Amino acid sequence: MPSTGTSWTCQTSAEHTGSLRGVEVQSTFPRRDTRQVMVGDVPVGGGAPISVQSMTVTRTADHEATLQQIYDLAMAGADIVRCTCNEIEAAEGLARIVPRSPVPIVADIHHNHKMALAALEAGVHCLRLNPGNIKSPDHIRAVASEAGDRGVPIRIGVNGGSLHPDLYHRYGDTVTAEAMVESALTEIGYFAEVGFDKIKISVKASSVPLMVDAYRQLAEVTEYPLHLGVTEAGPPPAGLIKSSAGIGALLVEGIGDTIRYSLTADPVQEARAGRQLLEALGLRDRNNVDLIACPSCGRAEVDVISLAEEAMEAFADREIPLQVAVMGCVVNGPGEARDADLGIAAGNKRGHLFVKGRNVAVVPEDEMVDTLVEWAELIHGDGVEAALARVDTELATREAELDRRRLLSDQGEDANDTGAVIEAIRRQSV
Ligand code: SF4
Repeated sequence: MPSTGTSWTCQTSAEHTGSLRGVEVQSTFPRRDTRQVMVGDVPVGGGAPISVQSMTVTRTADHEATLQQIYDLAMAGADIVRCTCNEIEAAEGLARIVPRSPVPIVADIHHNHKMALAALEAGVHCLRLNPGNIKSPDHIRAVASEAGDRGVPIRIGVNGGSLHPDLYHRYGDTVTAEAMVESALTEIGYFAEVGFDKIKISVKASSVPLMVDAYRQLAEVTEYPLHLGVTEAGPPPAGLIKSSAGIGALLVEGIGDTIRYSLTADPVQEARAGRQLLEALGLRDRNNVDLIACPSCGRAEVDVISLAEEAMEAFADREIPLQVAVMGCVVNGPGEARDADLGIAAGNKRGHLFVKGRNVAVVPEDEMVDTLVEWAELIHGDGVEAALARVDTELATREAELDRRRLLSDQGEDANDTGAVIEAIRRQSV
């Protein structure tokens, strides 16, 4: 098995910052130290912020439809987009797409190495080759040599499902992490013969434990940047859960430089999920609202699920990077969400608005979402202090306390009727 040598030196979060198109990001987790490749103007590896990828599902030959989807994906959070290059018409489509794309384009090459050469001619920013599909070392070297001349990186995209038959049989007629890693390292060896090292690697599998194992092993033996993904994860929500589990587990360990969710769904969902995972882990700066909401309970004074959905919809296209809370009751809501930038809690058919835990306004229940949006824009534009200066916080606090007491008096301390349930259990067990 050819080896590229181990490079596993974690940087501390304080040491690690990076820039993606000029945006500085500070990582919350130690990151594996990797080489860097440039996919167009997006750095991958070497301390760069983790980038989000997705793939178009249109025919690449239909360049207008494909460009439309690329724009949609970029709007949803994709930093890099891959398009299939499965026919000569697709390569011609890429020639039209690349100059007009808002993000770098990767050409996905299936079985024919000539499509890789055509995609390079079309000006793509990266290639993806699957070692299980392009098997001839001569063809691989020819593509690497041409990519090298043009300064274009290549992803070695190993898939558990399309492992080279020799490796599959050698490892006991089953897909193993060891076989996947060997496939990647063999391909790196072919590239090395022509002096090509602008490489990133993926070892995807549809099994989460298998892909986690494969990436961990790969991270021990190579310093090339890694592209993470759970392949064929399926439709949401199961596909989202599998992808988040596999990609998230590795990111927390510091493994991974770029990610893709492979969902059986509109690819916009992939881009959005990738972006949201990175934001949730603190690995990318937040673009949009972080909406937190209580799970609701017997004390809720409003339909929290509908209210939270309404708020999500209202904030969807607004780029306001604040944490906003939607809470079902004024008894516990403001306290539980006191660290949120802004929040609203229901009580007595009214919405109690709070900023950083301080009550600021009382509004009718049907104005709760509009008020949240209005205040979020205010805080985002002018800051917390300027927003607070506009209102009588003492009046709002008194009103909230009145509703809180009223609810406690109506519902008592045990709004979920736990005492009655315990009594029933005791009666049954006598
Ligand atoms: Fe939501 Fe209030 Fe119940 Fe907490 S106590 S879950 S804030 S309704």
